[in-house]
Amino acid sequence: MVDLKSQYLKIKSEVDSGIQSVIDETAFIKGGIIKEFEQELQSYLDVKHVIACANGTDALQIAMMALDLKPGDEIILPVFTYVATAEVIALLSLVPVMVDVDPDDFTIDISLIQEKISPKTKAIVPVHLFGQCANMEAILQIAREHNLYVIEDTAQALGSKYTFSDGLIQRAGTIGDIGTTSFFPSKNLGCYGDGGALMTNNDELAEKLRMICNHGQKVQYIHDVIGVNSRLDTIQAAILRAKLKQLNEYEKARQWAASRYDELLKDIVQIKTPKRIANSTHVFHQYTLIIEGLDRDTLRAKLKELGIPSMVYYPIPLHVQKAFQPNPYSVGSFPVSEKLCKTVLSLPIHTEMNESMVDFIVDALKKSLN
Ligand SMILES: *Cc1c(COP(=O)(O)O)cnc(C)c1O
Repeated sequence: MVDLKSQYLKIKSEVDSGIQSVIDETAFIKGGIIKEFEQELQSYLDVKHVIACANGTDALQIAMMALDLKPGDEIILPVFTYVATAEVIALLSLVPVMVDVDPDDFTIDISLIQEKISPKTKAIVPVHLFGQCANMEAILQIAREHNLYVIEDTAQALGSKYTFSDGLIQRAGTIGDIGTTSFFPSKNLGCYGDGGALMTNNDELAEKLRMICNHGQKVQYIHDVIGVNSRLDTIQAAILRAKLKQLNEYEKARQWAASRYDELLKDIVQIKTPKRIANSTHVFHQYTLIIEGLDRDTLRAKLKELGIPSMVYYPIPLHVQKAFQPNPYSVGSFPVSEKLCKTVLSLPIHTEMNESMVDFIVDALKKSLN
């Protein structure tokens, strides 16, 4: 699905010397280059504050901890997402209020948000799934009308750009009150272990987020709020600094592979290629097809026999997962997401793909159709 080894070999000397200098300085925790990486990511994203933390799940949890929510407060999220988004809500004794997604772009269906808002609703968490932004203009408008926070789960879409109707362009994760992201190795900006970050343009929230990441302290041993221990390792920051310089090239490589797939797959009736929405660029964390008129899992097994990996993101919607029982929903509550779970198929896509790889995969896919 990804080729992190070839990617590493191209920047090996920079990564290796970055790691070595952290070891030479024994600056393993909170080394100076964490700050440098945060500043570099700030300027890349054009956002006032980036706060590095241990992983993308922590980032979501810390974002919610910073908002002074009470047990029972409700958080709106798409039902078709990675478990982390909902998990942290439940963990903080908040209530995940699930909403179905748009069948074309897989992000939260904005026409279904309003009816889920109650006096207890405090925030909306759009997920920029697979690398394309949710409809942020509409989400911000709903949030403003109802006085809700917006936390963008940007784990899959770092770098993606959203264009508002007045022409304003902002990067994913810098649009709402807080953005969160993950540097898990296979993400678009991945390190060689776990890592994550929070983004915000709000000075007050930034200070609070930074404190929560560090045991609720601003001054050592003075604890003003309950926090957690969630730090990015300095060694990971060294790797991320080298890779951030390549992020534009990585994005182009993924987009190139996606358009070649599009071109080769466009006339196959059983396959729907990923739809692009007008207001967002797509950074293709995943290249996700919808398979129609034939069994997705059989197709996947045939592909595997031909040596082609593929993945199903995600096979079971959140409301059906055992961990989220009991809940007010049942099978049938979210028809679009339930259908997507049975029909989506993600093909390999990464920064090292070339023409012959895409063609080989498409040939195998064509052979597997009958
Ligand atoms: C990867 C991911 C996360 C969690 O990130 P980790 O760094 O693995 O904790 C959260 N949300 C989404 C949508 C993700 O894809």
